[in-house]
Amino acid sequence: MADSTLNAVVSQKIKVSPGLIILRVVPDGWVLPDYKAGQFTVLGLPGTAPRHLFSDQEEALGTPENLIKRAYSISSASRNKEYIEFYITMVRSGALTPRIFALETGSRIFLSQKFTGVFTLEMTGSESNIVLLGTGTGLAPYMSMLREDLPCNSNRKYIIVHGARHSWDLGYRSELITIANVCNNFTYIPAITRPELEHIPWGGQSGYIQDLWKNGIIQTKSGLEPTPDNTHIFLCGNPSMIDIMVKLLESDGYKEHSKKSPGQIHLERYW
Ligand SMILES: Cc1cc2nc3c(=O)[nH]c(=O)nc-3n(C[C@H](O)[C@H](O)[C@H](O)COP(=O)(O)OP(=O)(O)OC[C@H]3O[C@@H](n4cnc5c(N)ncnc54)[C@H](O)[C@@H]3O)c2cc1C
Repeated sequence: MADSTLNAVVSQKIKVSPGLIILRVVPDGWVLPDYKAGQFTVLGLPGTAPRHLFSDQEEALGTPENLIKRAYSISSASRNKEYIEFYITMVRSGALTPRIFALETGSRIFLSQKFTGVFTLEMTGSESNIVLLGTGTGLAPYMSMLREDLPCNSNRKYIIVHGARHSWDLGYRSELITIANVCNNFTYIPAITRPELEHIPWGGQSGYIQDLWKNGIIQTKSGLEPTPDNTHIFLCGNPSMIDIMVKLLESDGYKEHSKKSPGQIHLERYW
């Protein structure tokens, strides 16, 4: 493996919780292209790269020199050219993430120069309210959207519901609280599914995103009565949350968006 294939360098690895990191990467000898908030790119490492200590063992790879490549949503804003940021969970049995978790500041990594994806705010119009529903690292594209253009710069309402198992898995929490404090039109609703395991009693929402939606959490917390006419809904992360939410939303008259047939439901499946 030519070292030049690993065309970027890890500038910072921030541990959120044991299985979650924020990874900042800097291109080596090239400039980050412009991209739209919500898009993704590809990271890669060779099979010869060591795995993290706390990952599962894997069977011997056929050609370990080959790059293992996977897609990752970008959590930073395009206007920031200093580094590109990702929010990554470790799949212990996975091929790439245990190797990413073993990286340190200064480690080399492959970063694709192609940035792509249609999970962006582009098709929502400037008047529509925006509801961003995400589980785990499904928050990443929303961070990019909020960092690219602060909600206070628009008249519409933005609501984020971020679901995680534990409060300590709620990445970017202080930044989201700050945005909510600064922008009256932004509501941040963190929700956990295992409140009984909290060390300090959890005063926030608990339960799955689909149940919170059914119970009217958006209306209660933000005052918005979302309808297909006034709101676009974004879904990202766990595929079962996405499937259940799409059914619920369709029964409320929302329609999945496509290029040919515009609708109000936008989704990004991670697996
Ligand atoms: C458009 C797109 C954007 C993505 N953005 C992100 C991102 O921002 N952050 C991120 O962590 N992942 C993201 N993913 C998932 C990522 O591409 C990899 O699938 C993931 O990191 C696992 O890679 P791996 O090689 O370790 O596991 P693999 O050996 O490829 O094993 C894949 C299996 O791991 C499980 N899996 C995959 N992703 C997850 C996950 N996030 N949580 C729990 N289980 C999972 C599934 O069962 C899947 O079948 C994205 C995927 C897509 C398609």
